[in-house]
Amino acid sequence: MKWLIMVCALLVVSCGSAPESRHVPVVRADQHESSQTYPHLASRSDRVAPLVSRGALIRQINLKRDFIPRGTYARKIHRPMTPRYITIHSTQNFSSGADALRHSLALKRGKLRSRKAPGGNRIGYLSWHFTVDETRAVQHIPTNEQGEHADYNGPGNNYSIGIEMCENKGNNLTATIERSALLTAKLMHDHNIPLRNVVPHFHWPRWDKSPAHKNCPHFLLDDGRPGRKWRWFQAKVKRYHAQLAVQ
Ligand SMILES: [Zn+2]
Repeated sequence: MKWLIMVCALLVVSCGSAPESRHVPVVRADQHESSQTYPHLASRSDRVAPLVSRGALIRQINLKRDFIPRGTYARKIHRPMTPRYITIHSTQNFSSGADALRHSLALKRGKLRSRKAPGGNRIGYLSWHFTVDETRAVQHIPTNEQGEHADYNGPGNNYSIGIEMCENKGNNLTATIERSALLTAKLMHDHNIPLRNVVPHFHWPRWDKSPAHKNCPHFLLDDGRPGRKWRWFQAKVKRYHAQLAVQ
């Protein structure tokens, strides 16, 4: 009898978990890896794409719109944009609590200032389109407006959608990267942007800085340059893009 109860209990457990494993969320906050510094070396099990519908995949982005009010701070000037690139950054904000919502609040309150200068920042504020953390993505400005996140008056700002990945203390970087890859794929799909135009911040030189090419996002670059880790991220984006395209 005791054995029978144990067998039944096991059956209940395995059946109970079946639907979840079939729809394995590609991004899970509880998937803490032993080394968050090197997520590309994390489990390879995520390379098997789950069979989920496009809708389910998009829901996993968990996108929340929280726009900087039009006409204020970083949006005080309306600067239209037709996006041709997607630029990937990381916040380099390691403070605990510096998640996507906290960045959104700072942007809405005009807290992220940057000195306005000829050839430099054009409006006196930093801004970008999306911030991603382990549980959600938050959109700050519409994708048809320019941000201030890359290269002043260069093509990185004039033509690219900026995505910031959070790396605050306690944030699961693996889940953040996964969600960022999925969001990137969705934006590629929506705006007909090719994978070659998905670039790290590194891609856009800044004329007044040395080195001109920023080591950003640092955890997806090798010795400060796109290499193996960046190709690993590209492959992830490509896989999600293919999943979104066929369904
Ligand atoms: Zn950056």
